[in-house]
Amino acid sequence: MPPKKSPQAVVEPVVIPQPKKGAKIRLGAHTSISGGVAESIPRAVAVGFTAAQIFVKNNKQWFAPDLDPADIKLFRDRQEAADLVVFGHNSYLVNPGSPKDDVFDTSVKSLAAELLRADSLGLPFLVMHPGSHGGAGEEAGLQRVVEGLDLVLKATPKVQTKLALENTAGQGSCLGQKFEHLAYLLNHVSQPERFGVCLDTAHLLEAGYDIRDEKHYTATFAEFERVIGKQWLLGFHLNDSKTPLGSRVDRHEHLGAGHVGLETFRFVLQDKRWRDIPKVLETPKSEDMREDVDNLKKICPFIN
Ligand SMILES: [Zn+2]
Ligand SMILES: [Zn+2]
Repeated sequence: MPPKKSPQAVVEPVVIPQPKKGAKIRLGAHTSISGGVAESIPRAVAVGFTAAQIFVKNNKQWFAPDLDPADIKLFRDRQEAADLVVFGHNSYLVNPGSPKDDVFDTSVKSLAAELLRADSLGLPFLVMHPGSHGGAGEEAGLQRVVEGLDLVLKATPKVQTKLALENTAGQGSCLGQKFEHLAYLLNHVSQPERFGVCLDTAHLLEAGYDIRDEKHYTATFAEFERVIGKQWLLGFHLNDSKTPLGSRVDRHEHLGAGHVGLETFRFVLQDKRWRDIPKVLETPKSEDMREDVDNLKKICPFIN
């Protein structure tokens, strides 16, 4: 089925440089599922993406009606035809670190449902924020998250879609701003093989990991390799930050317009270790995604 005529058609798509040999460079942005999950595919393709991130349902609600099997099929058919890598991001409400039993229980059920949904769409992984401890302290919070994640794993035994733990800015009582937090979770969950990690460049800076020049970038990623290990890395969020190093305030900015700076995206894109890792933007955008295209056009020359 040809993509519906949409406002995206007026935006000149980005052309992501591709190597003559080897796997495709997977680059794109978070893409809306408005009108149905399958609509995300023509939307992403129309502007030139080779990768996209989607919410698997309305991200501001705990639960959603089951996906229609026809929508699942349409999504899968379109994705295959488009040769687009699509992964998911979970709901912002989910907090398996919550000391409150009702929030914890609902989070476990919601995350399990989203994981099943992502699996039905054939998504390789679902990005999730580890959660917040709500005043109970980091250690108690991390233990609670492990408990919650183990319940999710138990409720979804046949699922292939992995959970990608995202590093966070460390706002308030949020967990996940230190590599050690993610390592703790990977080391304590009952089925670590069902997990991975997603690194967000804005969150790194906001959490205090300097990546603004080559020396600091190299040191930060050496620490990532030492504490977590590159074999866990499944995805990148390429965002600039409105707030400075160590602010612990999560505000995304257009690439090159914030405190991270354009150079960092050159380091990431030219780093052979991350060449085959899909990378998406989560920067402010309007419906036709022209901002995403503009941002990608700024960093595409870095691909070599
Ligand atoms: Zn992110
Ligand atoms: Zn963020």
